[in-house]
Amino acid sequence: MAETPHPISALDLAVEQAAGGQVDVSAAGLAGGGRRALTYEEALARLDEAEDTLRAIGVGEIDAFVVSDGSSEPRVYTLFTADRPYRRFVENMRDGAATLSPMGVILYANRRLADLLSCPPAELLGSELAAFMSHDVVVDWESLMGPQGHGTTIELDLFDAHGRTIPVLVGVSPMGEDDDRNTCLTFTDLSSQKAQDQEIVRLSQAQADRLSDLQAAQAALTRQATHDALTGLANRDLLVDRIDQALRQGARTGDCAAVLFIDLDRFKQINVTQGHAVGNRVLEEVADRLLATLRDMDTVARLGGDEFAVLAPVVSNHHDAMEMAARLVREVARCRGATGEVLSASIGISISDGGRGSAELMLHEAETAMYRAKSLGGARSASFDRALADEVRARASAQDTLRTALDERRVVPYYQPILNLASGAIAGFEALARLVQVDGSVLAPAAFIAVAEDSGLVLPLGTQVLEQACLQGSLWQEYSRWDNGFAVAVNVSSRQLQPGDFASVVRDILSNTGLAPQRLHLELTETAIMDLHPEILRQLSRIREYGAQIGLDDFGTGYASLTHLRRLPLDFVKVDRSFVQGLGTDAGDERIVGAVIDLVHNLGLRSIAEGVETTKQLDRLRELGCDQAQGYLFAPPAPAEELLLGGYELPSAQR
Ligand code: C2E
Ligand code: MG
Ligand code: MG
Repeated sequence: MAETPHPISALDLAVEQAAGGQVDVSAAGLAGGGRRALTYEEALARLDEAEDTLRAIGVGEIDAFVVSDGSSEPRVYTLFTADRPYRRFVENMRDGAATLSPMGVILYANRRLADLLSCPPAELLGSELAAFMSHDVVVDWESLMGPQGHGTTIELDLFDAHGRTIPVLVGVSPMGEDDDRNTCLTFTDLSSQKAQDQEIVRLSQAQADRLSDLQAAQAALTRQATHDALTGLANRDLLVDRIDQALRQGARTGDCAAVLFIDLDRFKQINVTQGHAVGNRVLEEVADRLLATLRDMDTVARLGGDEFAVLAPVVSNHHDAMEMAARLVREVARCRGATGEVLSASIGISISDGGRGSAELMLHEAETAMYRAKSLGGARSASFDRALADEVRARASAQDTLRTALDERRVVPYYQPILNLASGAIAGFEALARLVQVDGSVLAPAAFIAVAEDSGLVLPLGTQVLEQACLQGSLWQEYSRWDNGFAVAVNVSSRQLQPGDFASVVRDILSNTGLAPQRLHLELTETAIMDLHPEILRQLSRIREYGAQIGLDDFGTGYASLTHLRRLPLDFVKVDRSFVQGLGTDAGDERIVGAVIDLVHNLGLRSIAEGVETTKQLDRLRELGCDQAQGYLFAPPAPAEELLLGGYELPSAQR
């Protein structure tokens, strides 16, 4: 009895042969427990139901086949008993396993594959594997058979009985030496691995998304740190960085770099009168125009408020930078405020050749030059040159001198008497600051007041003068033989009114020195109080409530005089020396002084003439009805200890 190792291939063979009608086939099986030979007819009937038979083999119902062609000994094909443990092993494998006929029919499938495909084993056997695959997928099983297909793996998507997709890795190997027709397949379920892969892809995508979010946030932060929020222009930090870069390059190449400092003229007025929204729109327009006028290589920055700056990293010469500034001045002049008013800018230029200097120095020079342009009337540019450098140095040293003098209490008031023109009695003294130098020489305010205003030193200066004048006044009020109504007049800079609470400073000094408040007269310089901010008006009113008087100094020289007269809480007005000078000689001046005195009286205020030097001037002032006067005719300013107590009198002719 010949035996072939595998009954499945034997059956296949038998089926083929039987289908050709050439052979007798009987089969023996253990179905139902007892070995039983099939008659030829039975076998044929079975073979008619080839599928069932195949399934029967697959599930272990049949153990052997007998095939005979009638002429020779029937051949019996049995499943080796020895195969059974392997079969059990295959049944219990973690992976699916199947045997596939050359036609792609599943001849055998283990339980795991049946589970995988949610299909009972009996149904699986005899089915085509293709029935569990997508129609688009064509696998050339035939070519995978034989030695060349051995060990091949392919990834496939199978569909289980419920239509669910099951990704599998299919391992292909031929059945063995004796069975080169069928193929053995293993199916490794890739579902969880795929899910894991997908999760990894999802996670890495999420991570990539987060990373790009982070990068975007970082870019936004960097932009915020380097750009101006309103205009989108570079900010000061970025500009400084770019200037330093240009200077380093200039040091290598010998090129010139230019920095232009741009400040809008009277922008504050637009902001105050037309509101911040209009102000912002103007700033945006200016930014756009500057950008449009300049080259890509130039950097335009907003430094804050209405200040802009431009870096031209390479200019051929000084003339180039001037041209550029002139172009920018013209461009800004094309911007309009909400009511159509023309805008203008003052531009300062600083040039560095061959990398000289630093970013901060260039910006400082350009800013200084900008102030020069502004002082020349604005709407123009100015360069930082040697003369300006000298001026800056002089100002710096003046500032040093003043600071030291203030520290050492060498700023002292001189006093100039103010007389009542009607009685000839002394009405009071104006305290005028003097800087006593280390060598004892004395500087007049012309040498230090401007510097004091610019540097802010006018604040300590004002306080020191006020303290000394009030102290002096309190001594005089105790011991003097003067008119009981006498007062001390002290000059106040508008800068003293701006920050903090000047009214409280005045109140404290009055209470510390003991000067009666009504004996203190504060003189505000008209040019200096252009800005009639409500807070300033409130402070002045408070000072008047304490009992001190407020007056307007240098009347006629300033700006919007009548507005000031109307809105400030005033007690007196000082007619500027320049008008007093022409009295008796200049008809125009006479008319002005006469009109001012009338105006002042009509407002119920006191008139005081400054700078009276001649008796002719004095006569005219009396004729015009002026209340009080001061001037060299009576006495120049002098230190308190030099004042001849009670010695001041009007020249006898005028009594
Ligand atoms: P001002 O307040 O108008 O003071 C009057 C100025 O005219 C004083 O100049 C005074 O010396 C001068 N003067 C008085 N009589 C005559 C005269 O007959 N002929 C001429 N040509 N000049 C006369 P001074 O002392 O040089 O002060 C100049 C200015 O400096 C003051 O003008 C005032 O605006 C400012 N100033 C003085 N002291 C202080 C101070 O303590 N604080 C502040 N903020 N400014 C002060
Ligand atoms: Mg004065
Ligand atoms: Mg004056």
